[in-house]
Amino acid sequence: MYNMKCIGVLTSGGDAPGMNAAIRAVTRTAIFNNLQVKAIYRGYKGLITNEIVPFQTESVSNIIQHGGTIIKTARCVEFRTPEGRKQAYDNLVKGGIDGLVVIGGDGTFTGARIFAQEFNFPIVGIPGTIDNDLYGTDTTIGYDTALNTIVEAVDKIRDTASSHERLFLVEVMGRDAGFLALYGALASGAEAAIIPEIVTEVDQLEQLIQHGFRKSKNSSIVLVSESEITGGAMGIANRLKEKGYNPHVTILGHIQRGGSPTANDRILASRIGVAAVDALLDEQRSIMIGIVNNEIVHVPFNKAIKDEKPVDKYMFDVLRLLSI
Ligand code: ATP
Repeated sequence: MYNMKCIGVLTSGGDAPGMNAAIRAVTRTAIFNNLQVKAIYRGYKGLITNEIVPFQTESVSNIIQHGGTIIKTARCVEFRTPEGRKQAYDNLVKGGIDGLVVIGGDGTFTGARIFAQEFNFPIVGIPGTIDNDLYGTDTTIGYDTALNTIVEAVDKIRDTASSHERLFLVEVMGRDAGFLALYGALASGAEAAIIPEIVTEVDQLEQLIQHGFRKSKNSSIVLVSESEITGGAMGIANRLKEKGYNPHVTILGHIQRGGSPTANDRILASRIGVAAVDALLDEQRSIMIGIVNNEIVHVPFNKAIKDEKPVDKYMFDVLRLLSI
């Protein structure tokens, strides 16, 4: 019989708004189920350097509304080595932790999968990343807040774009996933989105020019995913300049990561946090908790990490149709 007494929780990789709401949900669900909770500061780094702190209900009071993560996050090179992971395991055993909830993105789950296999350790993952690039969940914690931040910024840029009758290229995050650019463009009424998933099929810029993206309008806003594949906003701007256009570039950068989480992100984080502890108590391991069609799902780490999450290409057509 499985006898879990104490769980650990950590946040790892890039921070995302809603991580605090997830930490709160994990902590309180564990305490409700008579488990001890220990927070591991600075992700896998803190596991190796033994930054482990017992948490009570009050430890997570007044945090649901804050962006970032109260238990900090880090990228940890040592955890990529067997020696680093052994040290981490020894500290978990020393701390009496017998199950772990990790909140992060695909890198975090890759590390968790390897660690869980090496030490036969129960780990459940919570998808916390603004990029929404994890397979098996409709949305990730932080994505909705980042999307709203982008929309707010583009609304402001549009004021100057239309006053000066200019073409603006707005670069948004997403690494090799175009969700933020595509849905940000749809929500802000931008004329187009240049995203990595489509760039590989057609030259989106040529297509835009052929369709005469400024013909009927005196200003244009195009959202571009920050990615080597798209070339980013600067890469697109250089190509446009060669064709006689005069684009202005705005790179939104880290403002997309911060801020108070939206209601949707807080609710998502709360639901997934509860489900993560339930899964551990239910003897589940090496899975990510996701949401599909508003239902909680369990996705093996292998699938969440390796499978590509496709963007809905129909939405790309909708964007084009609405920007005539
Ligand atoms: P984000 O999507 O916001 O960048 P992430 O979880 O993908 O978040 P990463 O920096 O890629 O962020 O990964 C977080 C940490 O996971 C790394 O710093 C490292 O400690 C661990 N990790 C990633 N890949 C591996 C691996 N192959 N083996 C062991 N650990 C890994």
